[in-house]
Amino acid sequence: MMVMILISYLLCDLCQAICQHAGGKEDLDPDKYTPQQLEKTYWLCIFAINQHVSICHESWLRCSCGREKYPAGHEFCEVDKFEEVMLMMKQHAVAMDANLTTFTRVWVLLEMHTAVMMRMQTQYFGAESEEAIALLSIPSAEDAEASVADDKARIVAKIRQAPGGVAAFDAIMSANIIKELCFNERGLLPGGRDAALEAVRRYPSCINICSSRGLGGTLLMMAAAHGEVKLLQELIKAAGKAININTQTSRGWTALHFAAVCFNTGSAEPLISSSSSSSSSSSSSSSLTLDNQCEIVSMLLKARSDPNILNSFQKTPLEEFVINAHAHSSHAALRLLFTATAGAHEKVQTFLCDDGSVKVGDKVMVKNEHSCLLSSLVDAAAAELSRQ
Ligand SMILES: [Zn+2]
Repeated sequence: MMVMILISYLLCDLCQAICQHAGGKEDLDPDKYTPQQLEKTYWLCIFAINQHVSICHESWLRCSCGREKYPAGHEFCEVDKFEEVMLMMKQHAVAMDANLTTFTRVWVLLEMHTAVMMRMQTQYFGAESEEAIALLSIPSAEDAEASVADDKARIVAKIRQAPGGVAAFDAIMSANIIKELCFNERGLLPGGRDAALEAVRRYPSCINICSSRGLGGTLLMMAAAHGEVKLLQELIKAAGKAININTQTSRGWTALHFAAVCFNTGSAEPLISSSSSSSSSSSSSSSLTLDNQCEIVSMLLKARSDPNILNSFQKTPLEEFVINAHAHSSHAALRLLFTATAGAHEKVQTFLCDDGSVKVGDKVMVKNEHSCLLSSLVDAAAAELSRQ
């Protein structure tokens, strides 16, 4: 059984986040979920904490239950036991509201702080709000809000005592949140570039943390996937030695795999959403050129990306390139990947038909410029091998 905490600001955001986490969709109809998804258990502080034994008499709640009250520190007080509950959790998730108000609540910060201390990765869910992202700035723990002033004082004091104090906590928090927000499936969002760079400068190792949403990539992978040459270069520089260029997603994809399918808008199973071909295309995609992909592949190889790492489909970046090649794919990038990959000749040959077209599974792709280049690369490699 899965156990986790979800925290949120609005109940509807919370319900949608649970549906997303349990079943990958926001549908509220239980018939749309499998029995296994319906079996998942979530610990929700808004329902699991008994406020009648601590704060319900406060003027802003005005409850008349008359229950005996136990102050923070008492064994029967429940509002001060978040950390103990967190220690029993196997996963942690946060439901963001569109305005990111979630992160201004001190109890939310305490949970997130505990997750950081436990080295447990928080998963983020919630609605995209481009307005909030354009103004992206995550409030400091010092500015957090609490209904009870003592709660805030106690929690902020705890954060101050942790290694690096409030400054370190703020940096970790904002880096973690920003890496979730600066790209959507169409590309880099307004304000995303500056926010990403600022996050990496303040907390360099966030460059290696995979997003819990979308394609599940790191900032570097997203920059590679969307052809953001300049951002990729700046991220590598800003992260310095903290970077692990061969970080893999849960499906085994590296930044080089993402670069190999850069601007993929036409294949049967698009890694990058085909929505960018519609009028909603982001401003960055209009500036895409064939050179971007080559530059990105070249930059990643120079930064010691390993071209032989396999993703969970047992494919190298080169093979993903071949499988997903489309009109905007770069010949030069293909050449670079072919040259860098061990056994490229054998790997690619399996995709080539006798007539020079490319075949992936049962799907025969039309003979195009890429298949011609592939054929010539394979022929050249075969000739080279026979000379040796
Ligand atoms: Zn009460």
